[in-house]
Amino acid sequence: MSKQKHDPDECPYCQSRNICALTPFEAEHDQAWRSIECHDCGELWREVFKLVKLETENGKVLREYLEPGEVKARIRGILKQLKEFCEEEECEP
Ligand SMILES: [Zn+2]
Repeated sequence: MSKQKHDPDECPYCQSRNICALTPFEAEHDQAWRSIECHDCGELWREVFKLVKLETENGKVLREYLEPGEVKARIRGILKQLKEFCEEEECEP
């Protein structure tokens, strides 16, 4: 799966910024979505949002919902930090 950066304010078909939401957000369980229309090419698509975390009113994370790929990336990051720490301290892993 390629992680191409797409600007959500652009039409995915013709890259026009002349787009408009047709419906307000609908939500069910951990997803929300709405329909978008491009006024230039006339294509329709749906924006889908997924719940990523729960936090308190002042921003403290209560619970995070990570994709398997993100969990792996975090573990890799922690292992890299551990390795760097060990190299600095000249200890044997
Ligand atoms: Zn378009």
